[in-house]
Formats: sequence, structure tokens, C-alpha cells
Amino acid sequence: MSRESFVITDADAWVILDSRGSETVEVELVSGSVKARASAPSGKSRGSREAVPFPEKGASASVEVFRRLLKAKLVGLDPADQRGVDDLLKKIDGTQLFSKIGGNLAYAVSACSAVLAAKLKQIPTWRHISQMSGIKPAYPIPLGNVLGGGSHAGEGAPDIQEFLVFPIKASNVAEAVKANVEIHRRLGQILAKRVGGFGGGKGDEGAFAPPVDDETALKAVKEAAGDTAYVGLDVAASSLYDAAKSEYVYRNRQLRRTKQQHFEFLSRLVERYGLRYVEDPFDESDFDGFAEFCRAFPKVLVCGDDLVVTRVELLRKAAEMGAVRAVILKPNQVGTITDTVEAAVEAERRGIVRVVSHRSGETCDDFLSHLAVGLGGKFIKAGVAGGERVAKANELLRIWYSSGDTIPMQRGDEV
Ligand code: PEP
Ligand code: MG
Repeated sequence: MSRESFVITDADAWVILDSRGSETVEVELVSGSVKARASAPSGKSRGSREAVPFPEKGASASVEVFRRLLKAKLVGLDPADQRGVDDLLKKIDGTQLFSKIGGNLAYAVSACSAVLAAKLKQIPTWRHISQMSGIKPAYPIPLGNVLGGGSHAGEGAPDIQEFLVFPIKASNVAEAVKANVEIHRRLGQILAKRVGGFGGGKGDEGAFAPPVDDETALKAVKEAAGDTAYVGLDVAASSLYDAAKSEYVYRNRQLRRTKQQHFEFLSRLVERYGLRYVEDPFDESDFDGFAEFCRAFPKVLVCGDDLVVTRVELLRKAAEMGAVRAVILKPNQVGTITDTVEAAVEAERRGIVRVVSHRSGETCDDFLSHLAVGLGGKFIKAGVAGGERVAKANELLRIWYSSGDTIPMQRGDEV
């Protein structure tokens, strides 16, 4: 039996602000009396193989392109035909990395189409995504950034971008969300006592950004986590890498490390602090470095973000080289939901852990939580503090309040 078909009757896009106060795009798609909206986040530590977020003249240029080239062509399409919508975006753009229309516009249209389709089908968005992917839904474990530095914070903060925690024993969404919030709060108190002059300043993702080195930061996070959570890092090593000299530059400490020294430094942190998750330990071009790190630490979830940029072909390469055990899925890295789902399905097939992730510049859009549940993500990486981060946690809670234990919860102690 063929399903009922739906139709987009109107479409618009406009400029709004993200959490950094930078311009981004929001899209509205309409079908009769039913409306859906989606807006796009923006990254700062972006991989070089990611979709270009906006055309050269920024978000307003994306909106201009939308009105001139896309709007009329979207009208008449079926929003539940995700591939049809996404193929149109690719055809109108015609470049490898969405540099003409902007990857953020592509993402907002693509996500909005999924949200509208779910509304028309009268099912939750996560269920629509699960039907689209064929993956069983699950509540993800929140992987929370509680302390940060690198390109997300100012001078003097740690050079490593994110110090992350995830609860070991949470048996439901509410417990998991609460565990991370409590660690963030405890960490604030520890830092206030220990770091002279620290007034609670935070970086782009709401993580504390104290003027301390990486190891001092990690010690404080470990103490705040106690035995309730595992600790991990997003090194975001492409942001540290000086390709001309093949060195990793820890700018805030005025320190340069060869790849070997960088490897040894990270190894020491893994061993001393029992790290269970390390994202982007090496530059985005260094698949061999990732593979070596995987071999050295069989229990650590070595995760590819800039390495894979949500692209199925890079995921395949990384998997075949044994370079990752986990992969970040950020839909605006690749620009469409179809491509994000394809990467998720490939990860599932290969037993690679899916980490559905926000960007450092976010809006209060809560689509990400539906994506994480619908793609059966082991983790959702969406920050802990700040309205735009809490928006994701709150939507996860709403999904849990309405669906309860009909969806299984991922478990931190099985990592
Ligand atoms: C990240 O590197 O995982 C991240 C969220 O940063 P950004 O959005 O700046 O790429
Ligand atoms: Mg990252």
C-alpha cells in the first residue's frame, strides 16, 4: 500500500542569530495549515572537508539565494521524500561543499523537511527519522562539555578544546541530564576555590574556561565527576596543528610539540585520568595517527569529528584503517539529512559508536535531540549549560516524558 503523499505549499527563509550573536539562517516550510521551522548552528573549529556554512557574503546571501532559486522549486515537493528534497538542494547548488547556497541553508531546509513530514504524519520527529534510517530508536547518553578552551575560549584557557563527562550509571534520561548538570555545578565550585581570580567565565558552549593548563583542568574535571561519570576529551587537534612545521602548537601555554610528543602527552592523560573517550586526537589528515592511538588504547572510544565530517566515504576509510571506534554526526557538516542518515547507517553496520553532536554556535532549535533518538545514537553531545544547550536536554526530557520506557536508554557502563 503506498503511503499518503504530502506537499509543501509555501516556503521561506530568514536570518536569525546564533548563541555567539552571529547570523545564521532559519527556514519555514508549510503544508496547508501545518508549519515547521528549523535553524542551523555554526562551528568554529571546522574541518576542511565540511560543507561551507554560507556563501561569501554570509547568511543574508543564503536567504537571497533561497528566495531566488529554491523557494519556488520546493513548493510542490513531498517533505516526506527526504531524498527528493536533498537532491534538489544538491542540484541547485551544484558544488562539492554547498559553497553556492551555503551548507547551513541546505541543512536548515533538509531538517525542516523532516520536521514537517513528521508533523504531517502525526508522529514524533524521532520516529520519522527512525523510520527513514531503519535504525531502532534509543535515548542517547548526554556527553557534556563542562570545561573548555582552544578555539572556543580566550587566551589563558586550556589548549584542549573540550573536557567532557558522561554518566556511568544513569538508568533514564532525567538521571543522565541531572548527573551532568551536577558535575558542571561542582566543577564551578572547585574552580572558584582553586583558581585565583576565576569569576566563573565560560566559553562558547557554556563550559567553564578557567586560566589553567590542560592537566590542571583535567584534574578538576575528574574530581568533579568522582565515580558518577567517565571523563573524555575533544582535543580538536586540527586547530592546534601547524602543517608547515608538522607540530602541535599549544598557544595558550606557548608550547610546541612534535607528533610524538603530542602522542605521549595524550597517552599520559589517558592513563593517569582513565579517559574513556578521545575525539580528534590528531590532525584531520592523520588517519594513521588515529589508528595508532586506537591500537594503543583498546578501551578508549577514539572518535572522528574533523577526520570524518559526517561523510560516509571518510567514515568507510577510517573504519577500514581501524582509525575510529566512534564517529561524530553533525548534519550541517555534510548539509543534508539523507547524507547524515547514510553515515549513521554505515556506522551501525560497522559497529561504530554514533555521537550526534551540536556545534559551538547554536540556536535553541531542538531537532538534534530527535535526530539522536531516531538514529539510535549512543551519545548526544550538546553541552550542559546555556539556553541553547539546555534546549536539547529539555527536548530529550520531553521525548522521555511522552514515550517513557518504550525506547531503551543507552548505558554508560557498557562503553
Ligand atoms: C566540536 O569540535 O566538536 C565542536 C562542537 O566544535 P565546532 O562546532 O566549533 O566545530
Ligand atoms: Mg569535535
